[in-house]
Amino acid sequence: MNAPASTPTVFDVQRIRADFPLLSRTVHGKPLVYFDNANTSQKPLSVIEAMNAHYRQHNANVSRAVHLLGEEATAAYEGARDKLAQFINAPSRNELILTSGTTQATNLVAYSYALPRLKPGDAILTTVMEHHANIVPWQLVAGRAGATVKAAPINQRGELIVEQYIAMLTPEVKLACVTQVSNVLGTVNPVREIARECKKRGIPLLVDGSQAVPHRPVDVQALGCDFYALTGHKMLGPTGTGALWAKREHLEAMPPFFGGGEMIREVRFEGTTFAEVPHKFEAGTPNIAGFVGLAAAIDYYQSVGFDAIHAWEQQLLAYATERLSEIPGLRIVGEAAEKEAVISFLIEGAQATDLATLLDLQGVAVRSGHHCAHPLMQFFGVPSTLRASLAFYNTREEVDEFIVALLKVRKLLM
Ligand code: PLP
Repeated sequence: MNAPASTPTVFDVQRIRADFPLLSRTVHGKPLVYFDNANTSQKPLSVIEAMNAHYRQHNANVSRAVHLLGEEATAAYEGARDKLAQFINAPSRNELILTSGTTQATNLVAYSYALPRLKPGDAILTTVMEHHANIVPWQLVAGRAGATVKAAPINQRGELIVEQYIAMLTPEVKLACVTQVSNVLGTVNPVREIARECKKRGIPLLVDGSQAVPHRPVDVQALGCDFYALTGHKMLGPTGTGALWAKREHLEAMPPFFGGGEMIREVRFEGTTFAEVPHKFEAGTPNIAGFVGLAAAIDYYQSVGFDAIHAWEQQLLAYATERLSEIPGLRIVGEAAEKEAVISFLIEGAQATDLATLLDLQGVAVRSGHHCAHPLMQFFGVPSTLRASLAFYNTREEVDEFIVALLKVRKLLM
């Protein structure tokens, strides 16, 4: 539940902001208010410096060289795997495939897990509120196999209709998918309950954790899912980093998706044998410096602590929601009982893109558009929304500045 807006807890947000160099810049001559965190987060100095130090001191390729630099780079890269595994409480580091992000993770499951199993008439279940990364890969493989993609409905508040999701878990469903947190609505889905129902029916569940990991502690074992996808750049890490966690039994049964160096045991023209998991899914040279940065991002989260982060973000969410609700003609899209700090909205008589463009001139960065969620826009009957997505380094003062700017630009467009 959201905390009341009137009871801020002590949280030294200014000390935290000092760790994020970009937050002190100006945009169009105005102090930056960065409310586009669901798109990508800003990075603390420790992440930037970790990557810098890697290139200055330790740069080499991983898993190949016997020289010291190669050992250091391999230790740093594999250390990031350890850290990520611990961050989401994976039972084993070897169940964690390092990817370029959630999109690569869902595509890996689509082509390596789903496609070999799908038969004509089978289905993959997802929901109306998903990001395209949790829809389109399923469509691509379903189309090849003569299978279909079904979407569980949501209600007008932007909540998944869980009974219907469960009712749609019929025998032809070979994989179920759901986002833990919606990137557009902020809705938090009841993943544990869904996982329990999937398990009863023997249907594996994939959870898109892209928008959950930046806000709350994640425990894949407690969630009870089979696959968990995440992206690093929304959780203080560099772009081009992410992961797929999957139960070992699935990974053992999945063929490699990409072929090349680093993922083989022996290559012969008569036939190639593959490395053990996770390496059989990590062909080619990975984003070594990126994962060094992601490991530093995890350290940063752990130094602040998710209890404090979540409490602060929930206060900001409640405060921003309250302030936005005072604006005449403004409609919030997504009013779920449990939300993360993401607020989509529309203002009567003004285009979302025009508002976002004018807000930028006031120094306020928000996103407008379909947010890679066309089916969700179709459900609400709108082409786009404006989205303010907050992080723990944002402040109540920034919410005030955002509201002042919004009132100003609204006037210009009316
Ligand atoms: N899933 C959700 C819910 C997202 O918000 C995003 C990014 O916006 C993605 C998946 C895709 O992440 P990436 O582009 O980093 O692969």
